[in-house]
Amino acid sequence: MDIILEKLREIVHKSHVSDTKYLTFAYSQNVDPILEGIPDYVAIPKSAQEISEILKLANEKNIPVYPRGGGCCEFGGSKPIGDGGIVLDLKQMDKIINLDEDHLIVTVESGISWAQLDEYLSPFGLYTGCMGPGSGMTASIGGGISHHSVGGGGGAKYGACTKQLISLEVVLPTGEIINTGSQANRFSKIPFGRFGNGPDLSGLFCGDNGILGIKTKVSLQVFPRPKFVECKTFQLKGNTARSAAKIMIEIRRRGIDVYDAMYIPDIVVSVFKSEKVILPWIENKIRRGLFFYTIEAYSQEELNEKVKQLDQIFEENKAKILGPEISDGNIARWHYKEQGHWQLYHPLWGLTPTSEPCTTECFVPIQQFPSLLEAIEQWEYEHTPEMDKIFEVTKVRPIVGSGPILLLGENSVEVTCGFTTYPHKDIREINLSLWKSMIDLVTKMGAQWYMMGDICSREFVEIGAFTPEYYSLLTNMKRILDPKNILSRGKFKLLEVEK
Ligand SMILES: Cc1cc2nc3c(=O)[nH]c(=O)nc-3n(C[C@H](O)[C@H](O)[C@H](O)COP(=O)(O)OP(=O)(O)OC[C@H]3O[C@@H](n4cnc5c(N)ncnc54)[C@H](O)[C@@H]3O)c2cc1C
Repeated sequence: MDIILEKLREIVHKSHVSDTKYLTFAYSQNVDPILEGIPDYVAIPKSAQEISEILKLANEKNIPVYPRGGGCCEFGGSKPIGDGGIVLDLKQMDKIINLDEDHLIVTVESGISWAQLDEYLSPFGLYTGCMGPGSGMTASIGGGISHHSVGGGGGAKYGACTKQLISLEVVLPTGEIINTGSQANRFSKIPFGRFGNGPDLSGLFCGDNGILGIKTKVSLQVFPRPKFVECKTFQLKGNTARSAAKIMIEIRRRGIDVYDAMYIPDIVVSVFKSEKVILPWIENKIRRGLFFYTIEAYSQEELNEKVKQLDQIFEENKAKILGPEISDGNIARWHYKEQGHWQLYHPLWGLTPTSEPCTTECFVPIQQFPSLLEAIEQWEYEHTPEMDKIFEVTKVRPIVGSGPILLLGENSVEVTCGFTTYPHKDIREINLSLWKSMIDLVTKMGAQWYMMGDICSREFVEIGAFTPEYYSLLTNMKRILDPKNILSRGKFKLLEVEK
């Protein structure tokens, strides 16, 4: 038997390690239609100790290791870059370790999904505030922390999920296990605070795209879910993107703590209607871009006052309110009450049979998103020959534009723009170059990427978006923590020459 396989089976239960082709192939892709890298082995560990042993083995044998949570990274982050290596599937590490009801902190294993955690917290009247990403039904807490995820609800009030982070247990690339935040003090009995005991080392692993360590335990702040909620949806007038940006800025200026505020661009509304996805019943009622808000409060009086102030903003912007029921097109209600926050983005994958998007999901300042949407329209026009070629091969024209745009805790928005295409070998190179070209466009408009994975982390470095000083610091940090470049080898092109 292969010696590596044998050693992995001494560490992890033998039924949880494999090198069979059908399994390794199943772990060779994420959700995009292009990027692929077939690992040699897949291991499904059950503890930090097992992960530590695997990483020590990988260092000894110089084998790259790629951590994977739900595998929903849109930039190919949780599969190998090039073939080979070990994919560590962390989804078996899904236990709730402790709910500290006095201090409102939950500690979980990092492979648990956002939906599993929510199901556990609900009977206590608690929630995580930011409900993770739009993929929260599958995506893991560890993946969310590795991406600064936001988008699955609560983003406007609570910000990205890393804001709620208290402490982490991390297995370093060389196999040592550390705890951060209050737990850096070995005498601390319970996780209770993020900042202190020296620099914020939790921050080092937040949004690291799995390059600096493997998170195995996560302690998050939780919140009592307010009992009073209003959800309203509006149809916008005129240039709906500019109108949406004005409304978002006004919400922030007046200090109203909306839970969610989302703009659904014209193109998304027309795709929802033509493809009959998300809310098929809105078909005839709605023609232009939509905007919805959800606001929470701890009393009816508080809620009434906040709703009054919000409605005034929509009135000033000549937005037309839709009816209160979901069947009236009130997406806000569906989003909040029926877990639409975890369903909204899913149909964007496979909008038409077998099509998948090449996305560019990032944060930009509120003011800037209308110009970004305009730049993407122009980009589509400039790339007409490539679009024609895709059409010629697949008989379907790509849909280009942005998905829903969500207000975040800071005064920025989350934008998911991109194009849909097909995993067809004759257009592979076109898909790849179009995708890179869109990443370049968005990066050069100053966007902040939170999920970078394979293609975006490499392209960002390729076009020199990091200053040399910043990139040198990042490289040195990687070299100190991971001298053999074992973890997520290839991302950000770190230590490539020295490999
Ligand atoms: C339908 C759909 C909707 C989405 N909506 C959103 C959205 O609204 N907002 C958003 O932020 N993203 C969104 N995403 C992207 C993605 O799902 C999220 O970023 C999610 O948080 C990733 O979690 P995951 O468990 O799937 O991570 P994976 O894809 O498995 O991993 C993500 C990255 O983190 C690393 N990693 C995973 N677990 C660990 C760990 N425990 N320790 C160290 N590194 C680790 C991986 O190597 C990889 O680089 C969406 C994706 C899809 C398919």
